[in-house]
Amino acid sequence: MEKKNLDWENIGFGYIKTDKRFVANYKNGAWDNGVLTEDDKVVISECAGVLQYAQTCFEGLKAYTTENGQIVMFRPDMNAARMARSCKRLEMPVFPEEKFVDAVAQTVRANMAWVPPFGSGATLYIRPYMFGSSQVIGVKPADEYQFRVFTTPVGPYFKGGAKPLTIKVSDFDRAAPNGTGHIKAGANYAMSLHAIVTAHEEGFAENMYLDAATRTKVEETGGANFLFVTKDGKVVTPKSNSILPSITRRSLMYVAKEYLGLEVEEREVFIDEVKDFAECGLCGTAAVISPVGKVVHHGEEIAFPSGMEKMGDTIQKLYDTLTGIQMGKIEAPKGWIYTIEEV
Ligand SMILES: *Cc1c(COP(=O)(O)O)cnc(C)c1O
Repeated sequence: MEKKNLDWENIGFGYIKTDKRFVANYKNGAWDNGVLTEDDKVVISECAGVLQYAQTCFEGLKAYTTENGQIVMFRPDMNAARMARSCKRLEMPVFPEEKFVDAVAQTVRANMAWVPPFGSGATLYIRPYMFGSSQVIGVKPADEYQFRVFTTPVGPYFKGGAKPLTIKVSDFDRAAPNGTGHIKAGANYAMSLHAIVTAHEEGFAENMYLDAATRTKVEETGGANFLFVTKDGKVVTPKSNSILPSITRRSLMYVAKEYLGLEVEEREVFIDEVKDFAECGLCGTAAVISPVGKVVHHGEEIAFPSGMEKMGDTIQKLYDTLTGIQMGKIEAPKGWIYTIEEV
């Protein structure tokens, strides 16, 4: 199969329209089978539930080319399960989990020419999402929904290596204690935009959000979970029911324990103890791990010993091991790598 003629290393992180996308509709209480289509336009009522009351959720994962030339995805069943949980919380119909994985695989297979080659650092980003498509004016769930999957090639997240970030403790809250922080709702992102634009204006790369109830505990950033490493090499991640459970973070915790033999702990992490950690990183599909060099908390600077030049040693090992597993250089735990067969 002939690849598209793109400058893979320099495509950046925007939307590039690919050939096909998957579309399924929910009507009269049932999903249709869904189709692959070239039509990238969505036509819905001006009064659609998603437009009025933000009834929408999404997922994000990647397809990429391994060292031996196979096209694979990383743990798509985890995205299927998470989207099912998001749908339930938003009173949306679940798109069956096996069908989700199949729809994602079909979409990638239909866009094989857009999957970046091994070694380019680029990947094919996959965006499954669902929204209320029928008219809603009184506040209630829509009766009809659309589930779609599109793909877009994205460049390497960090060109020329990952430089540690400086982030700030936000004065805004991301998620209420019994709210929607634990699901991938579009609304969580809408309300984070002002906070991130403000942080960027102040010269910070990201926001560290604290728990909204007490503002003493670390939660996450707008789109990535935290990992910390203690001075004696233990890997710690914050525990809270308003954090979005990152698949990357859960995979890294497994890798830390089972591949690197490190002690791991998921527990409450207080902002006051952040100064005692040796390393800090942000985990998510896009970058796997972004190192954090500094956290600024109301003018007080917390600088991690790992510094501002490179990733800390433990975070580097975690990064190398997980990306090694993803790229087929290190044997993966059973079920982690989903191979897309060419047709
Ligand atoms: C998607 C997301 C993450 C990262 O999850 P991954 O499954 O690792 O990509 C973290 N936090 C939030 C709020 C998210 O929406």
